[in-house]
Amino acid sequence: MKVLRTIQELRSALDQEASPTAFVPTMGALHDGHLALVKEAASGHVAVVMSIFVNPLQFNDKQDYEGYPDTLDEDIRQAEAAGVTHLFLPDLHELYPAGPEGMSTFIHVTKGVEVLCGAHRPGHFDGVATVVMKLLQIVSPDWAYFGRKDAQQAAVIENMVSDYHVPVKIITVQTVRETDGLAMSSRNVRLRPEERKDAPNIYYALQTMKNVYEEEPFSPESGRTMLQKFVKGTVEYAEVRTYPGLELPAENYRGTLLLACAVQYDQARLIDNIMWTRKEEDHVS
Ligand code: AMP
Repeated sequence: MKVLRTIQELRSALDQEASPTAFVPTMGALHDGHLALVKEAASGHVAVVMSIFVNPLQFNDKQDYEGYPDTLDEDIRQAEAAGVTHLFLPDLHELYPAGPEGMSTFIHVTKGVEVLCGAHRPGHFDGVATVVMKLLQIVSPDWAYFGRKDAQQAAVIENMVSDYHVPVKIITVQTVRETDGLAMSSRNVRLRPEERKDAPNIYYALQTMKNVYEEEPFSPESGRTMLQKFVKGTVEYAEVRTYPGLELPAENYRGTLLLACAVQYDQARLIDNIMWTRKEEDHVS
């Protein structure tokens, strides 16, 4: 595995590759969720580029940014073992020579961000879209891999790639969970022991709420109240949306549904979701 710290180093290393390129952008503190993306990316004869970059533009909270977990030595070992061929580790100056706020052009996301996380994290998806667009321009991958745990992010990226005619195929990968059901996240290390015990209830609740919804659809407000009965953390939202449109579903909607939530614990804000598809022949009561 080559470790590359500048855009120029990465580009010249990729220029020497004859094979197509698969790309996995991350913020590091790698866990099995990230590695599942790499394993899917590495399943063909391709160069697998992973980036690790903690992007200040997408954080609403300075403390969250400054305290973002950093496990670089372990990340390098795990990335190589999982099949990464090129690990891109740019520093802040490499990606933002004039500083993040010194950029002249930002991507501003206009659809699908007034709901779910977007409603609670102003500017977050602009920051995500801006850095992902930068990375796509630098890496020029044939495929880019994103986790479905961040379902709204995946939808935003799909829309951006389509709007800007970026020649990349976006592949989304299923959420990887701990054995007790908690979705893996770099932020889980910030849970206190009693919060860690409580957090798997999120996934249990989502499964129960999905069944309730299929019997009797509930509003975003009721969803929030319902989830709050299952968990001790503070529920920010818990609602059903269409995917990838993120609209409130019409009564007889057929297609993919997303039940997504965010729960705030003392030092960690966790998100999770489940998706399912209603087919034409499914009975909806
Ligand atoms: P992050 O480092 O949190 O920005 O995540 C990098 C990529 O890994 C994103 O595409 C995430 O959606 C994905 N990811 C994070 N956690 C998981 C998980 N538990 N299962 C699958 N993908 C994940």
